[in-house]
Amino acid sequence: MLKRCVIRVKGIVQGVGFRPFIYRLALETGVKGFVLNDTEGVLIDVEAEEEVLKEFLNRLKTEFPPLAVVQEIIFKEEKPCGYKNFVIKKSQKTSKKDTFIPPDTAVCQECLREFFDPKDRRYLYPFIVCTHCGPRFSIVKDLPYDRENTSMAEFPMCNECRKEYEDPLNRRFHTQPTACPVCGPKMFLWSLKGELLSENPEEIAKICMELIKKGHIIAIKGVGGFHLACNACNSEAVLKLRERKKRPFKPFALMVGSVEKAKEFLEVSPEEEELLLSKERPIVILKKKKDLVSEFVAPGLSFLGVMLPYAPFHHLLFKTDEDAILVMTSGNLSEEPICYKDEEAFERLRIFVDYFVTYNREIIAHSDDSVMFVLNKKSFFIRRARGFVPVPILLRTKVSKHIFASGGDLKNTFAIAKDNKIIISQHLGDLESPITQELYEKTVNHFLKVFDVKPEVFVCDMHPRYFTTRITEKLARGKPVIKVQHHHAHIVSVMVEHEIYEPVIGIAFDGTGFGTDGKIWGGEFFIADRKGFKRYAHFSYFMLPGGEKAIKEVWRIGLSLLYKAGLSPEYLSLKKDYPINIIWQMLEKRINSPEACSVGRLFDGVSALLGVCEEISTEAEAPQLLEELARRTEETLPLNFSLINKGEEILISVEEFVRELVKLRKEGTPVEVLARTFHEAIISTSLKLVSILRERTGIKSVVLSGGAFQNRILLLGLWQTLKNSGFKVLLPQKVPFNDGGICLGQIGIAQKIQVHSS
Ligand code: ZN
Ligand code: ZN
Ligand code: FE
Repeated sequence: MLKRCVIRVKGIVQGVGFRPFIYRLALETGVKGFVLNDTEGVLIDVEAEEEVLKEFLNRLKTEFPPLAVVQEIIFKEEKPCGYKNFVIKKSQKTSKKDTFIPPDTAVCQECLREFFDPKDRRYLYPFIVCTHCGPRFSIVKDLPYDRENTSMAEFPMCNECRKEYEDPLNRRFHTQPTACPVCGPKMFLWSLKGELLSENPEEIAKICMELIKKGHIIAIKGVGGFHLACNACNSEAVLKLRERKKRPFKPFALMVGSVEKAKEFLEVSPEEEELLLSKERPIVILKKKKDLVSEFVAPGLSFLGVMLPYAPFHHLLFKTDEDAILVMTSGNLSEEPICYKDEEAFERLRIFVDYFVTYNREIIAHSDDSVMFVLNKKSFFIRRARGFVPVPILLRTKVSKHIFASGGDLKNTFAIAKDNKIIISQHLGDLESPITQELYEKTVNHFLKVFDVKPEVFVCDMHPRYFTTRITEKLARGKPVIKVQHHHAHIVSVMVEHEIYEPVIGIAFDGTGFGTDGKIWGGEFFIADRKGFKRYAHFSYFMLPGGEKAIKEVWRIGLSLLYKAGLSPEYLSLKKDYPINIIWQMLEKRINSPEACSVGRLFDGVSALLGVCEEISTEAEAPQLLEELARRTEETLPLNFSLINKGEEILISVEEFVRELVKLRKEGTPVEVLARTFHEAIISTSLKLVSILRERTGIKSVVLSGGAFQNRILLLGLWQTLKNSGFKVLLPQKVPFNDGGICLGQIGIAQKIQVHSS
């Protein structure tokens, strides 16, 4: 009996080869009808004998193309209407924009083979792309995802490209960014004076590598913006880049030509290798095993961030020298967003570089490289951007109203929720400079437009002075704004990811977050669900003399810990001449000294007390150096924080710990042992507290979140300890531990509160 079925496929199904897949499947099975892309995804209308139709539907569910993410398939039976053949119909505009843009992915193996094949018409053509690979998110202006709505619009296809584009059996069928040397974008090498040195990709790659070898710094336009490239083995070049970027400490990312090359100087586990080679191609943080690159790439650290080539031009560059190790750092001044427009790059990057490699296709949505690490065979984000954005987090239940969550002011990402998905923006960085704030607004508007979101629920951090708080109020235009405590958001972000609805024990170890008492939190033990939380324990408050200034000059926090412990300022031995007496008076008089209980700040203070760090140039520098120190030994002393019961709340007292620490240092205990002891003390204290909470509440699930867990000794130590003690440990794996995950938690909380209030 003839049957007809209308099938709606939702998810990442456009621009990933879904229609040709359906077309081939229709030809193979013999169903008749059509397939088309519309703004809701893919629509398939087919009819055939019942058995044939069944086979078609079964294979549809199981064989879809690799880049597709099928979220939902809806079937509806209709009356047969006598289709004669199977066709791919033109894209249809419908009122609802309910589809995704795929993320930018690395060039695929098939394209790469053509790229290096002298007989192929795209031989060494740097914009080679197919349905299974290449730029997407970075070039899309609007939906539906068609060439006219991308920055490829200004490159009309040549006849040959058009033929491939229109052939459903071709790998480039409806590949929107498809191009060739005849019709597509071109690459250029410019001198600083604006002379065009070459337009030949092969020549550009060769000259580039030669210039890099000579110690030059070159700006190279990549997928999500410009990189600054130099020879990682040349200390002079690396130092020059550090000086120009005004970035004395923060590690530079590297690019090498192959996994084999990475293995020459780094430890690479099978999981790390898989991540390095994944289509998302993130920067992976790996342990150094040999000193092959300049020590200034990551001063004082035993880990390096490395990625493999992902754009065709990167492959060409490394073809000229397979042994090269390049610094490939984001093209920006520290604290500013990555440069991604040509004119802007020429203006802002000319102080860094000697040459520019650009191309004449516009980047619409910028993104930095994603950064990840592997621990205990699991991968974690430090920065979620290129390759992953805008892949949504799918929900089991739909949100009834569109939600906008603005995130936090540091390491910002924002999120939107619509139907059953949450889409998180690319990493936007610290929203301090006007240029970053402007880009934030621009990116929000871009997301609202391309995902067709009209938020009715607005949510932000409760920090009264955050830029994100102000902007949310502005966007809400008088509608109520839900304000969420920072660490509650940290904990709920993990609950959303793991689809947990019951209360959990939440440990939030963080740098800075505004607390409900107006103080700075970040050493918190909660019992939390999505609606709210109860603070059961926290570290004792200590002052940050000078506020923000103490975060940069961490010796002030060291001094503050001494003050708190009732010790004299002499215990702080500093290399530089700092105004110790003035700051001591500030502490005594409690002038401009906000109180904090954050673990991040505690790390800062202990670093200062142990003589590890006095002043920092970048966030988390002191904790990173302290972690490095602790890595040098396994020896720890039985030193611990004492717990003080204050009604239902427990105070983790730092006073006695600091007194002991200082005494031991004075007696000559090696600092690495003290650094290790500090880490272990936090781990064992946490176990003690969590055990108390389990006894009180019966809850066995523990969420770890907050930027301090990027410290791998702390993370691994606590994770193992909790597991060994029978706890279920939940960790963020789809968003970072740091504030890059805040927006996801905000969505989870808003969703709950909003449902309950309406
Ligand atoms: Zn490809
Ligand atoms: Zn062409
Ligand atoms: Fe935080």
